[in-house]
Amino acid sequence: MATQSIHTVTGPIAPEKLGRTLIHEHLLVDFAGAKKVTRDSYDRGNAVKRMLPYLKTIREQGVESFLECTPMYIGRDPLLCRELSEASGVQILINTGLYAAGQRQGEPEPYLPQYAYDLEAEHLAGGWLKEWYEGVEGTGIRPGFVKIGVNPGEMRPISAKMVKAGAITARHSGLCVASHTGRGRSALESLDIFEKEGVSPNRYVFVHAQAEKDLALQVEVARRGGWVSLDGIGPKSAEAHLRAVLNLLEKGYEDSILISQDAGWYRPGQPNGGEVRGFEYLMETFVPAMLEKGIPQATVDHLLIHNPARAFTVKTEGA
Ligand SMILES: [Zn+2]
Repeated sequence: MATQSIHTVTGPIAPEKLGRTLIHEHLLVDFAGAKKVTRDSYDRGNAVKRMLPYLKTIREQGVESFLECTPMYIGRDPLLCRELSEASGVQILINTGLYAAGQRQGEPEPYLPQYAYDLEAEHLAGGWLKEWYEGVEGTGIRPGFVKIGVNPGEMRPISAKMVKAGAITARHSGLCVASHTGRGRSALESLDIFEKEGVSPNRYVFVHAQAEKDLALQVEVARRGGWVSLDGIGPKSAEAHLRAVLNLLEKGYEDSILISQDAGWYRPGQPNGGEVRGFEYLMETFVPAMLEKGIPQATVDHLLIHNPARAFTVKTEGA
């Protein structure tokens, strides 16, 4: 029998238990680079203490779930996420995958380990599937989605390999693949790769779609069946996000929109984790702004509750 569930750091839940969800946020990010990044650079207890109030605030706002989008080699910490989830009551999803974004012109990808270059996509996917089946880093905590990243500009072969590995992982697991992609053309190319691998486009999330200023390309990703993630919502960018949401709604793609803030996070190496951007803006200010623009409450709920549940539900065969 096929079952449908969503995998949080405290175990699987029924999709209807996901509730109001922030689909792209961060609790801890360490940009030290794949060669240098280490858990020794911070005290987990202190990170929990620092980040807990921010999660409690959104819990009080009615947010029930939260996707931690920090990939491995950039500070992904499953135990931190589980502690924070248990202490705050917010359900948290972590990810598997590798991040090929963030490099400077002419330099290698700083957040990729050497094996990402050495192994074929099939082998990389094998590693991610192992995390899916067994849990992450010996913790038994299973990822709830795949997070990858591709370079800005024309997609490099190493980035295309991450997309292919993501598609293969999705094909075997049913997990959804959120891909850091700033450029509409690369998102469409990624959908081509998914198609070639025989994976439904609804397993692909065009992360940071707001960076694509040609709204027609956002629409094209939705038309082809991918998710459009408008996830940089904040005081300065709210209007642009609102325009993009309205444009997609107008074109009839309310089933393709995801919204979030890309906010946070504890920064190892900085005093008490440095400056943190809280997660409360979306519920406090952006939702009222959507309602004011005439977007019905039911549509707002659709974007914050139903779409995340549809995107991150995993269908598995068997018991
Ligand atoms: Zn992010």
